[in-house]
Amino acid sequence: MSVAPERELASAPGPLVESPRKSVTPILKIDGIAKTYRGKHGQGAIEALKPVRQDIPAGSFVAMVGPSGCGKTTLLNIIAGLLAPTSGRVLFEGEPMNGPSRDMGVMFQTPVLLPWRTVKDNVLLPAEIFGSKDEYADRVVEAIDMVGLGDFSKALPQHLSGGMQQRVALARVLAYRPKVLLMDEPFGALDEFTREAMNLELTSLTRPAGITVLFVTHNIPEAVFLANKVLVMSPRPGRVVGVVDVPFEPERDIEVMRDQKFTDIVFEIRELLKGEEVTT
Ligand code: ADP
Ligand code: MG
Repeated sequence: MSVAPERELASAPGPLVESPRKSVTPILKIDGIAKTYRGKHGQGAIEALKPVRQDIPAGSFVAMVGPSGCGKTTLLNIIAGLLAPTSGRVLFEGEPMNGPSRDMGVMFQTPVLLPWRTVKDNVLLPAEIFGSKDEYADRVVEAIDMVGLGDFSKALPQHLSGGMQQRVALARVLAYRPKVLLMDEPFGALDEFTREAMNLELTSLTRPAGITVLFVTHNIPEAVFLANKVLVMSPRPGRVVGVVDVPFEPERDIEVMRDQKFTDIVFEIRELLKGEEVTT
């Protein structure tokens, strides 16, 4: 049932004078990532992202919020190694990344399941691609149980609700025990109740396992509920206009949303977004 945090924190060289901040290499370093899409069919180039610099500590839950089109997906895809930046680089555990890593799981807004494969065979797909199906067989069963789909492992995606299909996608990343989980509005297409339930489940699965999560959303309360740090992005070209710490305990239930502090943080983020004008 459990996902072991198979992680070692690499220590940076110690400072000569003891500094009050712990000098631990962040699991992810976003080092000046910028992206301009080259124009196609006679259209001009589109500057999607201004340089973004951010350190993501291991075990943190970081949400990125910003208006539609501000470059959230672009940034996430670059971090995932699926898209090349125009400039800058991403360091994963201190090493520059070149392409996707098996230590990073990615979840998109749609579950991206193969309709002719059962739940179990969809979750097994990455193992087949790695050429190590037997090695992962037990973990796949375990991950399907973990997301509450134990009774549906032989079902086809078309017989599952939208929420259940996203559970399959979640099982598919958790089965491979990622150190980092990159999520691009993963529950955005689900109804409010299902999304709430999925968010609770997500934190109860990733926090004990020490998985670092980067979660994109345009829903501010969702970001504050989930994250211990919220990166607020400006409209396109996107840049980080504020980093807001969320001081609640990692273990939260929905009641935290009644807290005055919760509302204050939501409004602080709103103000940061309001201060930004759409430039294009
Ligand atoms: P978000 O996820 O925040 O909605 P995106 O990262 O998808 O934003 O897009 C940022 C900007 O870059 C948008 O203006 C979008 O139209 C543009 N864009 C995204 N992908 C491409 C592409 N492949 N070619 C050209 N422009 C793109
Ligand atoms: Mg997007």
